[in-house]
Amino acid sequence: MAKIIPQATILEKYFVTSTLPTQWCPGCGAGGIGHAVLQAIERMQLDPKKVVLVSGIGCNGHFTRHLRLDDLHVLHGRAPAVATGLKMARPDLEIIVIQGDGDAASIGGNHLIHAARRNIGITTIVSNNYIYGRTGGQYSPTTPKKSISTSSPFGLEDPPFELCNLMVGAGATFVARGTSYHIIQLIDLVERAIKHPGFAFLEVIAPCPTSYGRKNPETGITGPQMLQWQKENSVSIKKAAHMSEESLRGKIVTGILLDRIEPEYSAAYAKVRQRAQKGGLA
Ligand code: SF4
Repeated sequence: MAKIIPQATILEKYFVTSTLPTQWCPGCGAGGIGHAVLQAIERMQLDPKKVVLVSGIGCNGHFTRHLRLDDLHVLHGRAPAVATGLKMARPDLEIIVIQGDGDAASIGGNHLIHAARRNIGITTIVSNNYIYGRTGGQYSPTTPKKSISTSSPFGLEDPPFELCNLMVGAGATFVARGTSYHIIQLIDLVERAIKHPGFAFLEVIAPCPTSYGRKNPETGITGPQMLQWQKENSVSIKKAAHMSEESLRGKIVTGILLDRIEPEYSAAYAKVRQRAQKGGLA
């Protein structure tokens, strides 16, 4: 099981404390995800000068502004595209993209699928709290059917994306899902994702009590209630393998869903550059 680094160590080493407190509401899942990322970085003893966080627009993106790590806080949805460019220029860096579901799956859905298709060696962590939190609680492409949101006040009939399946279909070579409740497992998953040599995608089911929970009490209203709901509705991938499709309906399947090795994009193009310098394919 994961070694847990004392919180004081994380705070002292990585946080610019003068920027605290954060802007997050009580019970928000964003802090836990950020903490899992820092735990994994510290556990792996990554050189902070070789780690770059690329954050999207939304509540989750605000995490990076509090840290002593290089970061790029970029246009809405464009984090995977900027991270791709950075990896091509500096393949020696560990690049971690942090996005929310609206940012990743809607505004920047195109960039996400092409980063996966290329198998660029970045880690993309998407906090899926089923809603656009920052902009006032509009439904996103992952909001469950029947949900109440500011843009679906009488119930949503759009079917949601299943983000991990989307990533498998798009060509990602590492796909995993965790929850804010299973924080120890989440640290392990972040570490595995960072270690993966190609495009690694990690979905984290996270609570947004303010914009989702209050309007959809069946998943809990407060942060702790939403974590309880996650606990009661999660099934490990191992257990899920023995369950019927019917009994898995509505469950959150957690763990590593896909892990395979394919040529990484920036390394593949380094070879193309060498060929071009030698004068072509022959
Ligand atoms: S609106 Fe939701 S996602 Fe945004 S800070 Fe508040 S709880 Fe977190």
